[in-house]
Amino acid sequence: MNANILSPQFQDKEKARKYLENMRWPNGVACPHCGSLEAYKLEAREESKKPVRNGVYKCKACRKQFTVTVGTIFEDSHIPLNKWLLAIYLLCSSKKGMSAHQLHRSLGVTYKSAWFMAHRIRYAMTQSPVIDKLQGTVEADETYIGGKHRGGKRGRGSDNKTPVFALVERGGRVRTFKTEQVTAKNLQTKIRENVDRKAIVMTDEYCAYNNLGKDFEHYTVNHGKGEYVNGNAYTNTAEGFFSILKRGINGVYHHVSAQHLEKYLAEFGFRYDNRKVDDAVRASIALAQTNGKRLTYKVPATA
Ligand SMILES: [Zn+2]
Repeated sequence: MNANILSPQFQDKEKARKYLENMRWPNGVACPHCGSLEAYKLEAREESKKPVRNGVYKCKACRKQFTVTVGTIFEDSHIPLNKWLLAIYLLCSSKKGMSAHQLHRSLGVTYKSAWFMAHRIRYAMTQSPVIDKLQGTVEADETYIGGKHRGGKRGRGSDNKTPVFALVERGGRVRTFKTEQVTAKNLQTKIRENVDRKAIVMTDEYCAYNNLGKDFEHYTVNHGKGEYVNGNAYTNTAEGFFSILKRGINGVYHHVSAQHLEKYLAEFGFRYDNRKVDDAVRASIALAQTNGKRLTYKVPATA
């Protein structure tokens, strides 16, 4: 697939609708209410004074009307569909994300709309809760996001930072978790819930990881002794993910409140999981995930 910001689906809302229809209904229009393939396009009757909105279909089976955006994050939105598609493309192709201020300027929508769109798109990027466990070699590590103080790896002495725990498959996917406290119980519960028992787990020497060896083949690297790679035992993959996450959150988003942190984690996790495909493919994967994820957010005074 080839796309860039000049592609037709970003230029006007009719082209965007056609694009989404082709993507959502590759085998013909399907009714989102009952699944029937017997639907027809609504045309205005000659005597009717009211024009029919473009892209409205009617199902012969259940008699309901629908458009391609029914059941998606775009449903009921007053923002033109081409701007939604462009927002998805921009968020998928910017390595460190894109602020609502930047989206507002790039898309020519209000700041409030841009903020709302970005959060809906992040929601589309969240993983389904039913997903298989991480396999192979999995690195587990924690970091701290936010707060005023920089410094110590585990951020002790800076109580306004939020711990984030990550599990990263080498060469594969990431799972991130906003955590209350980095206790052995919290971290090991996440590992047991998300990592296959046959996987090899790599951590540093932090005491919260003690006794993992009871359930997993577990190796540690001793960062405290200045050791960063101990044979195959290292956590550089997880640290690489954290580095992109922090550059994005500090450099692009500036302030991410603990309340919204998980949505940003979903955004960075989505880009990471789909890092091996090009921008256009990544955007179409995000677009496919907009279906069945209708949700509204209250827009706060500050993002
Ligand atoms: Zn139907």
